[in-house]
This record gives sequence, C-alpha cells and structure tokens, in this order.
Amino acid sequence: MISNKPELDRYIQRDAAALLYDNAIAGIVISLITSTFLVFAFNNPLTDSFQQMWWWGISTLLVFRLADVFIWKVKRQSTDFNGEKSISRFTTGVNLTAVMWAIYAVYIITHDSTIELTTTLIIIAALAGGSATILAAHKYTAMFYAFILLAPASIGLLLSEQYALQLLGVLGFFYSIVMLITSKKASEFTLNTLLLKNENKVLIHHMEEQVEQRTQKIYELSNLDPLTQLFNRAAFLNQLKFLITTSNKPFALLFVDLDGFKKINDSIGHEAGDQILRRTADRLKQCSLNMQLLCRWGGDEFLIVLTETNEASAVEKSRQIITILSEHHKTENSILSVGATIGIALYPEHATSEERLIQLADIAMYYQKKLSRSTVGVFSEQMEKLHSHELHLKSGLTKAIEKKQLRLVFQPIIRSENYEVAAFEALIRWQFDDENIPPDEFICIAEQYGLIHEIGAWVLKNACWQASQWDLEQKMAVCVNVSVIQLQEESFINVVEDALSSSFLPAELLHIEITESVFASNVNMIASQIKCLQAKGIKVSIDDFGTGYSSLSALQDLAVDMVKIDRSFVNKIDSNGDAIISAVMHIASSFDLLVIAEGVETEIQVQKLLKLGVHYFQGYYYSKPIEVEDIPSYLSKASMPLKQISKAK
Ligand code: C2E
Ligand code: MG
Ligand code: MG
Repeated sequence: MISNKPELDRYIQRDAAALLYDNAIAGIVISLITSTFLVFAFNNPLTDSFQQMWWWGISTLLVFRLADVFIWKVKRQSTDFNGEKSISRFTTGVNLTAVMWAIYAVYIITHDSTIELTTTLIIIAALAGGSATILAAHKYTAMFYAFILLAPASIGLLLSEQYALQLLGVLGFFYSIVMLITSKKASEFTLNTLLLKNENKVLIHHMEEQVEQRTQKIYELSNLDPLTQLFNRAAFLNQLKFLITTSNKPFALLFVDLDGFKKINDSIGHEAGDQILRRTADRLKQCSLNMQLLCRWGGDEFLIVLTETNEASAVEKSRQIITILSEHHKTENSILSVGATIGIALYPEHATSEERLIQLADIAMYYQKKLSRSTVGVFSEQMEKLHSHELHLKSGLTKAIEKKQLRLVFQPIIRSENYEVAAFEALIRWQFDDENIPPDEFICIAEQYGLIHEIGAWVLKNACWQASQWDLEQKMAVCVNVSVIQLQEESFINVVEDALSSSFLPAELLHIEITESVFASNVNMIASQIKCLQAKGIKVSIDDFGTGYSSLSALQDLAVDMVKIDRSFVNKIDSNGDAIISAVMHIASSFDLLVIAEGVETEIQVQKLLKLGVHYFQGYYYSKPIEVEDIPSYLSKASMPLKQISKAK
C-alpha cells in the first residue's frame, strides 16, 4: 500500500526519536536520584571509593544526556531533524548508562552482602522494569537495558557462596529473561503503533501531493494554452481585467498576427505549423517582461500587454518583436519563416474595457495587414469607421442573394482578328441601400467572411444560364471570375458541374478567370483544380496579369489557356506599358497562351495592341458592361464589324 518505504522509515524514526527523548527526563532523573541515594545513603568503607568514582562517572554521563535532551528539545524538535541520528545518539547514552548500572550492580553484589546489596537489587530491578516502557521506541536498547542491568548482577549472585543469594541470582536471571521478552514485546507494540500512524501519515501526504498535482493540472487546463503554455483567452482576460481595476496607469495592448503561417500549415503540414507556434511563443516569452500579460489568443494570434509605455515606445517595441518573430525557423528538413503584423490599442486613450481594447487592437492589426504586412499600426478612429462600414456591408451581403440585390452585367470580349464578339465576361453588381457597391469593394469582404462560396456559386449558375439563353448562330463563351478561395474548395468542381448541367451550357463555352493572386496560394492544389476544369473542356485564364505576385514558374505549373493583361498596362501603353505588354506577348507565345487586353479605351490603344499581336480586346472602347436584356440589341448591332460600330459612334 505504501509506495515510498524510505519515506515511511524516516517518519517512524523521527517519531521513535521523539518518543525516546520525551520519556528521557524521567529516566535520567530517576537514575540520578537512585545513584546518589545508593552511593551516599550507605556507609561502607569497602565500597566507598568505588562508589564515589562510579557516582562521578554516571552523574557526568547523566548530565550529558540531560543536556542532550534539552538541546534536542530546543533545536531539533521544530526542524526537519534526522530521526536515525537522534536515535543513535540517544541509545548510546542509554546503553552507557545501562553498562554503568551493570558495573555497579556486579561490584556491589560481589563486595557487599548487607542491606545495601538488597537495596541495589531492588533498584536495578525497578529500573529494568521501567525501561521496558520508557525505551520501548527502540527495541534493542530496551532489551539490552533490561538485560544488562539484571543478567550480570544475577550471574554475580549465582556465583556467590550464600545459598540465599544464589536463589536470588536464579530469580534475577529468570527475571532478566522475562524482562528481555517483555521489552521486546512492548517495543514491537510501540513500533507497530508508530508504523500504523505513519502509514496513514504517508498516505495522507501522498494524497495531498496528488491533490496538488491535480490542482496544478486543472489550473493548466483551465488557464494555459496546451500547445504554447501561454495564457489562454479566459486567463488573459482575467489578468487584463485585474490590471485595469487595480492600476490606472496607461498601457498598450499589442495584437500580434503571424504572416504566412497558413501557407506553412497548408503546404508543409500541421506538425510544422505547431512547431512554429511553439517557437513563436518561446520568442515572445523571451522578449516579454511579464508572462502574466502574454497569451495565445487563438490560431496564429497572440496578445501582449506593455505596461509603463507610451505610443512611441510601444511602436518601437512592436518593431523589435516583429524582427524577432521574423527570424528563420530551422527545422529538420527546411528553413521556414513567418512574419508578424501588430496592431496597437492604448489604455485608457482608446478604450477602458478589456474586450474593447482587444477588439480595437485587432482592428488596427487587420487594417495594418491590408496596408502592409509585417508592420505596426496604431488604432485610429478612421479604422473603426472603415471597420463598421465593412461589417455593414458584410451583414448586407449575407442577405443579398435572398433579397435579389445581386445581378450580372456582361462585357463583350472582341476577337482582334475580325473584330467579332468572341465572349462576354460576367461581372457582378450589387445594389445595397440604393447604392451601387463596386465588386472590388465587396468581393474581398465576401472572401474574408466566407460568403464568397455562396455568391460565387450563384454567379456561376446565373452566368451559365444566361449564356445558354443567347440565341446566336455562333455560340459565344461566357467568362466568369472565380476567387482563389472558391477554387481551393474541394467541392468547386461540383459547383461548376451543377452550373453546366442545370443550364445545358457546353463546357467549352465556359471560361474561368482567376486573379493573379493565385500564385501566392497553394499552387499544387490550384494546378490540379485547373487540370480538372480543363479536362472537362473549360478554358482557364489568369486575370489582371502583371499586377499580382507573378512568377513564371507558377505560370508553367498552372498551365492555363489565356492571360488577361491588366488595364493599368493598356492605360500606359504610350509610356512604358507597351514594353510590358510586348514582354507578356513573348511569355504567352512561349507558353502557347492566348492574350486578352483589358481596359481598352481608345483607337490608338487598339492599333498598338494589334501591332503587338494581342488576340482579344475588352474595354469601354467597344462596350461598357451591359445589362443582360441589352445583349440581343448589342449583338444585332455587332453583326456588322465592330470596328465600324466604333467608327460610326
Ligand atoms: P476584372 O475581372 O478585371 O473585370 C474587369 C473590370 O474592369 C470590370 O470592373 C470592368 O467594368 C472594368 N472595365 C472594363 N473595361 C474597362 C475600361 O475600358 N476602362 C475601365 N476603367 N474599366 C474597365 P468591375 O465590374 O468593377 O469589376 C472589378 C473586379 O471585380 C473584376 O475585375 C473582378 O476581379 C471582380 N469581380 C467582378 N465580378 C466578379 C464575380 O462575379 N466574382 C468574382 N470573384 N470577382 C468579380
Ligand atoms: Mg475578370
Ligand atoms: Mg481584370
């Protein structure tokens, strides 16, 4: 039952030592009195000199023992004393006393036969009897004491010539055997009692330890983030609340969000992601002065409170943190790196409640990240206005489809070879609170809040349906813009299949446009989705080519069919735009891609683009995006070559 034997032995020894020392004074005092009485009460010239010498000896010994008892009581009892050492010191004293008594008894018995002898015998018998209880806490000492006091004296009596003394000797010897057994039993009983008592004590001690360990575990579970061992949300909020209520001093709250973490998690795996988070936490611990005011808020977000600071020093400290967090992480197989963007909210300047402060620091981080990653931004009212406008749009967007506020317009794409309409690009429009919200503004909100899947599916379905309704001799394709977030969704192919099957539009008439930001995402996943689309006969193009995180190797990996040169280059065709377009044409021809120029607004641009060999034009020069009901009349006009239309305008 008791797992820790040494610990139990230690407890028993301590108790035994305490018992021995507690009973010691009575024993020592009795020994002192009786020895003095025996030595000085009888006057026998034969034994006097031995007795006095013996008395000095035993008295010195007893005084030493008495002093030892006092020292032990004063110094040791209250401390974590060593039971084993105390016992051996005590038993040495007791056993020496026993030996002294034995010497005395033997001497008197062999040198005296008077009343003094009888008295001595009575006294040592009484001392031996008492020792069984007083010394019960140490078995061998208790047995030795009783035996050594009685046995040698009894043998001495047995050797005497007087019959009466011999009888006394026999009696004394038996008595010493009985005392030996009694002392042994009394001692075993006492030690057994100590064992039971201490078994309970050890048990309770172990239970207390376990309770303590469990309490610690519960504390960790309820207060610490298991991955990073930093405070979790609840614990941090408590600390922050405490700080606000107990101190009125200004402080800065830093909202830290890692840049590029998701990419590591998605492409290398969650194990690597976890490692980055743990290391980030360690780095934050190292550069944070107060661990209580540091937490993992969730995912790759961390919060830090900087006390005794102002805006300038909080910004400076944040920059240092960004530098530290952006250092490379060396792992077994690779070197990984993430950045960090930090938003700051100040107490009490920006808010006085913990929740609001965190919210404002989050807003500051969010806008800073939009502006420029791995930098620091301090909260401003302007940010909050933008934020509430964004939230307003977001809540409007969730009901936009249901309320039929969304519609599609179509912008023609002209084949440069014969100026005929080759396709229409479907562009979304949203009328919200009597206001037209431009897609550039709300598409990113839809992406951020996960609404893009529903909206994107609606666009695909409607665009395909409209295209299938165009009653034309020559079939015309419809180009649909697709967000990368949609494309990365496994079910995206099913959404496309649904749109095609419900509209009966042939797959060859559907073109998917993906913006160039695709290069920043999981290229493998996107490449396989594109292959899947192409296998069905759908054409895929890269939109706004040249503006995003372009990479030629990714262009090769993605193996698209077309690129759409961004209108900013067409716009600058007179300055350096044509050099860029000509470079794109070279790349496109080596990858065997068709090129569409966006934002064509003038005849001069058309001519220049023609010379550069662009395959398709799209822009206000030919038509602004038109309502679906205007498409037939537009196309009837377009049946004469479009160049003539524009000239006729
Ligand atoms: P985009 O795909 O590059 O679409 C072309 C944008 O350029 C359209 O703006 C169009 O109206 C505009 N545009 C066309 N020709 C000219 C011109 O000659 N001059 C000028 N100044 N502009 C021209 P819009 O409709 O505002 O769309 C903006 C962006 O919103 C689109 O750029 C596309 O990225 C996104 N978007 C539009 N509809 C959807 C959609 O249904 N789904 C997704 N995911 N994104 C969409
Ligand atoms: Mg487009
Ligand atoms: Mg574009």
